[in-house]
Amino acid sequence: MKNKLDFPELAALKAARPTLWLNGGVEPAERAAMPISSADVLAAAERLARFKPFFRAAFPDTQLNEGLIESNIVELNNFKVALDKRFNKTLDGQLLLKNDAYLPISGSIKARGGIYEVIKHAEQLAIKAGLVTPDVDYQIFAGDQLKRFFADYRIAVGSTGNLGLSIGLIGRALGFAVDVHMSADAKQWKKDKLRSIGANVVEYQSDYSIAVQNGRAQAADDKYCHFIDDEQSRDLFVGYAVAGLRTKQQLDKMGIVPTTEKPLYVYLPCGVGGGPGGVAYGLKMVYGDAVKPFFAEPVASPCVLLGMASGLNEKIAVQDIGLSNQTEADGLAVGRASALVCKLMAPLLEGAYTVQDDTLFELLRTMQDEAGIFLEPSALAGAVGPWFVSEKYNTKADAYHLIWSTGGGMVPPEERQKMYNKK
Ligand SMILES: *Cc1c(COP(=O)(O)O)cnc(C)c1O
Repeated sequence: MKNKLDFPELAALKAARPTLWLNGGVEPAERAAMPISSADVLAAAERLARFKPFFRAAFPDTQLNEGLIESNIVELNNFKVALDKRFNKTLDGQLLLKNDAYLPISGSIKARGGIYEVIKHAEQLAIKAGLVTPDVDYQIFAGDQLKRFFADYRIAVGSTGNLGLSIGLIGRALGFAVDVHMSADAKQWKKDKLRSIGANVVEYQSDYSIAVQNGRAQAADDKYCHFIDDEQSRDLFVGYAVAGLRTKQQLDKMGIVPTTEKPLYVYLPCGVGGGPGGVAYGLKMVYGDAVKPFFAEPVASPCVLLGMASGLNEKIAVQDIGLSNQTEADGLAVGRASALVCKLMAPLLEGAYTVQDDTLFELLRTMQDEAGIFLEPSALAGAVGPWFVSEKYNTKADAYHLIWSTGGGMVPPEERQKMYNKK
């Protein structure tokens, strides 16, 4: 391993300095391998559509959009002015925010993949047991008969917080027993919330990889238990990828049609890689070369940048280069990347960069003050992207910049205040 570990950004990465890595392996869309087909992603979108009556019945906050779990895209005007000033550089092009922090049900990007994998599992169990056919009204999933049926089954997951929250909320609403293996980073209010809805929270003093490992091991011996594997799940990934189709519909309505001359740059906060990877994959599927995705990671936890830049993917952890994996961006506190994501993103990802915790808190205040949007620290990793990336990358002047927000919608008011006041 040691002798392979050299790439130009390594020294800066080791020193925990904000670093941009550009992926030399990007392929033109027509040549890039995309082993997950658009038929797979469309099937996922259809499954989510079948479950709309259930979502409407079980989660009132989905009623506004008739059971669609989707977030808005907004233009950031005052925020852009503030950051232009802050970085002493006027960003050309249009600045947009995709607000997954306010997705219904669980207030984070995990309301895409996490919820998708659980409903897929539930549907398969129910069909196999002869309790449901795909043509009935899926409001039936909110009823007592299916809840009693699912009570014999468990769902387990390892998480730094938000994935556990999503799985707990959807799993319990369907009637499953739910075990959430929480890393030391997980916030107390998330554990409290999960316990209040009857999920079993297992706490670890160690980081995310250990929580996942333990959850996986406990679930392996139990044929009634389905483990949501954030490090290698294809279903999670496909659930996230549905965002590509939906985002295109939304941008079309806004009259925004990215092209290679006027591309869409997307800046995605990244932990293990599944969320941003799935979203980027879905966007590549619909926009091809017109979309340029970048991942954003904390300086202490750049597992995907490290894995992809070194070519070692999941075989190297940030601790191997002396980084702590200690960050206030709890949603991104992941030391080892997903193997699946590194492989799938190799020809598609434009680049990745790191950001300091202090910057996340500064952006948190600016986003609140200038746009009136509260985001949790992790969710701001993408917000510095348009300015930071264009320092070293030839960003086109005529372009769209889409900052992907990923969490914060469920953070309680007193926690929000603490984060806002943090210096
Ligand atoms: C989970 C999460 C991410 C990143 O998703 P991964 O699949 O871990 O890469 C980003 N932001 C927030 C707030 C999250 O909870």
